[in-house]
Amino acid sequence: MKLRTRLFLAAFGVAGLTLVLAGFLVARSLQEQLLSRIETDLVAETQLVGELVERLDGNTSISSLDAEADTLGAQLGARVTFIAPGGQVVGDSAESGAALYAMENHRDRPEVETAANEGFAVTRRYSTTVQADLLYVALQVNHSDVSFVRLALPLTEVDEQLNSIRNATILGLLIALAGAFVLAWFSSMAMTRRVQSIAAVARRYADGDLTPEIGDYGNDEIGIVARALGASVQELGRRLSEISRNRRLTEAILSSMVEGVLVVDARGRTQMTNSAVRQLLQIDDIPIDQHYVELIRHPDIAKQVGLALEDGGSSFSEITLSTDPTKECLASVTPFRGQDETGVVLVLRDVTDYRRSEQIRQDFVANVSHELRTPLTAIRGSVDALFGDSDVSIQQYRFLDIISRHSRRMERLVADLLRLARLDAGKEELDCAPCDTRELFSDIAAEIAPMLQTKHQSVEVNINEHAKSFLADPVKIHDALKNLLENASRYAPTESVIELTAILDDGFENILLSVHDRGPGIPDTDLPRVFERFYRVEQSRARNPGGTGLGLAIVKHLVSLHAGRIEAFNRSGGGTVFTVVLPRKIESLTGAMDEIKHQPGLTA
Ligand code: ADP
Repeated sequence: MKLRTRLFLAAFGVAGLTLVLAGFLVARSLQEQLLSRIETDLVAETQLVGELVERLDGNTSISSLDAEADTLGAQLGARVTFIAPGGQVVGDSAESGAALYAMENHRDRPEVETAANEGFAVTRRYSTTVQADLLYVALQVNHSDVSFVRLALPLTEVDEQLNSIRNATILGLLIALAGAFVLAWFSSMAMTRRVQSIAAVARRYADGDLTPEIGDYGNDEIGIVARALGASVQELGRRLSEISRNRRLTEAILSSMVEGVLVVDARGRTQMTNSAVRQLLQIDDIPIDQHYVELIRHPDIAKQVGLALEDGGSSFSEITLSTDPTKECLASVTPFRGQDETGVVLVLRDVTDYRRSEQIRQDFVANVSHELRTPLTAIRGSVDALFGDSDVSIQQYRFLDIISRHSRRMERLVADLLRLARLDAGKEELDCAPCDTRELFSDIAAEIAPMLQTKHQSVEVNINEHAKSFLADPVKIHDALKNLLENASRYAPTESVIELTAILDDGFENILLSVHDRGPGIPDTDLPRVFERFYRVEQSRARNPGGTGLGLAIVKHLVSLHAGRIEAFNRSGGGTVFTVVLPRKIESLTGAMDEIKHQPGLTA
């Protein structure tokens, strides 16, 4: 049913019902008032007639009494009856002559009986004399010939009066209903027009056209609702355009990125992908709300995403794409927690070219270093031979010494470069065995004893009872610690003490092997960089004999092979502390080589 019809029916129905009810009540009350007025009038008239009769002379003939009744009946417009004490009718405005005498005895008429008992009576009943419903009022009077005066009014007359009232009411009602009809029609039309104009604007908004409407909605509730809705839609539209602008911006950023990005929500459903990730993972369509397992055909990446969704941890791995085995990628998976959304972001970085150039660089350094070894050996051999020649002048001897020192340094440099190349290429594998800490420390100290003696330095060893032995590759740990001890001796002043300590960390999970010197320390700005290749704290110091600038880079590499780390800090009392932190559990070494191979810091 249309809104207009409904509004019309509602308004008209309410008005109609009210009018009909009001008409009915008015008609009833008018009827009651009329009846009671007729009754009151009849009673008053009866009393008047009673008084008139009482004033009549006694022993009046029946014909006179009847004539009196006729006169009064004609004047009052009612049937007037005089009843003798015995009940005989002695005067009646409705009958006369022989008919009057033939009238039944009225003593037992209900109104007469009540009047005889109570002096006055009002009844309604059927009259056999006039054969109609009549309203009777009977009064006992004090007269010798007449005991009761009775006035009667036919109810048909009353009904006629009532009917005219009813008809007038019905006519009024019909006119009022017609008025209500017209009013309801026009008001429902006006209301429907307003609602329809609001609905048209709402439809336009729903179709996406959010141009503000400057219509006059009025000041009533409909107007308030329409204006509030309009304002909400405008606000919503503003937010929507802001969201879509942000989304376009995000899409522009993502599509211009070289890295592949895939975002899944907490249920693992894809929320966003860029073209790079679709290309790398060979996804044809733009997936929306698809489960990541259906999209990522690389089991390792899918596993990483699954773990991040489960435990909320980040992970990082290097993989060869199963969809394209020539491609190597770094896959980083990071969970995110938005205001009311959580999920995981997968970033895939194609490092194929980077790895290839890195490989070329490593091969080049290894080849050059290798090629340099033979000429260096020849130079060293020749210099050594010339040293033995007695014809060499002092000047020549000095030159030979310079050549010898520099060729030795070059040999160390080449050796270090070759070792780094081997480590980079993953050619040095771990060969773990139990290491005796004290034995390790004293072996190293013995090896560099000449260096220590030259500078009159001493070594102090402190080993915690829990750190007496540990599991590691003895040769590699030996090389790492020896390098640290050499550095300590090189940079610490003469006659200083170098401490070698071995303790366990608080959780007993790692063994900490430290070399503490009393040297000048390393400036805080340089500390994080000393492990880079060829990084030297000061160029003047870099010329310090023996240093290649590669020692700490090799140490870091060797320690990382054990899944450990190296830390350096300056002690407040002076000197530097280098600490090798090695995990005590052998299992954690498994696969460490593969992982550390690609750590950016190691190949820097
Ligand atoms: P180098 O062969 O030059 O010693 P390293 O890689 O072993 O190369 O060390 C890098 C730089 O770190 C050194 O040039 C030196 O400046 C600084 N360094 C290393 N160990 C110490 C130390 N114990 N005390 C002060 N400086 C140090």
